[in-house]
Amino acid sequence: IFQIFVNTLKKTKEKFNITIKNLFYKKKIDAKLFKDIEETLIKSDIGIITTQKIIHQLIQQADYQQLKNANELYELLKTIMVNILNQTTTIQYSTQKKPFFILIVGVNGSGKTTTIGKLTKRYKKKGKSVLLAAGDTFRAAAIDQLLFWSKKNNVTLIHNKINSDPASIIFDALSSAKSKNIDIVIADTAGRVQNKIHLMEELKKIIRVSKKINPNFPHEIMLVIDACSGQNVLDQVNTFNKNLGITSLIITKLDGTAKGGVIFSVIDQYKIPVRYIGIGEKSEDLYTFNAQHFVNALFE
Ligand code: GDP
Repeated sequence: IFQIFVNTLKKTKEKFNITIKNLFYKKKIDAKLFKDIEETLIKSDIGIITTQKIIHQLIQQADYQQLKNANELYELLKTIMVNILNQTTTIQYSTQKKPFFILIVGVNGSGKTTTIGKLTKRYKKKGKSVLLAAGDTFRAAAIDQLLFWSKKNNVTLIHNKINSDPASIIFDALSSAKSKNIDIVIADTAGRVQNKIHLMEELKKIIRVSKKINPNFPHEIMLVIDACSGQNVLDQVNTFNKNLGITSLIITKLDGTAKGGVIFSVIDQYKIPVRYIGIGEKSEDLYTFNAQHFVNALFE
């Protein structure tokens, strides 16, 4: 699994790793070294605020531990970066909660439908029964894509005609899952960005209506974000979180981007855990996020 992280982060590493290794090579610890590390972190899409936090901790702890050589500082930097990613914990899935309801949100193109396909495969493999709900009634293509995934994984998809009310489709899906004793319901939603206010109202309504079946619904509101968007994903996290309260993140397309460093600023600024990362277009290209692996791979 670690090797998969290394391969996935190939492009992000190109930006980060070579520079960082050169910085530490036989150097002594001085102000210039800290400045150079800071510059490398900012260039790697870790973001200014989070970078400054990392550098501040690095200077403080290096001083406290009276570090003498750059090698020790290198290890300390890794530890601090792992700690940044470990500031959060994910919700535990409970088998008592039937169905466990996962609402998937995110802007169009972020990889929602593909991720739903991957999640379905993953949960089915673990022996769970899954039911899908096509809550993006705005785009016919989204329903078609979900139909493809549902057939491929042999699970039921609850869908309706285009432009019908997404809240009522998801309500039907949840009722059906409840009566059939299904383990997990995954609902897709729209992600049009032209009219954010309207979209947020639509999503809030879905949540409100689902609570009529169970006040604890949804158990998870997962936001799917595309790593290629770099620091722009912070705006998306902010908007969705402010309106809906995001419980976890899925970061897609880490395989195709040099901007993987954005994970640090997202977790640091919003304290929302990353549950999975998407590392390709195939249905098995989804991995549970692991902070230690991620940082080790970045420095490998
Ligand atoms: P949606 O509009 O949010 O539902 O996005 P889609 O699921 O349709 O995905 C948009 C595009 O991104 C598709 O071409 C997917 O194959 C691709 N995609 C999704 N996840 C990943 C990923 O982790 N890696 C790569 N390379 N492509 C991905």
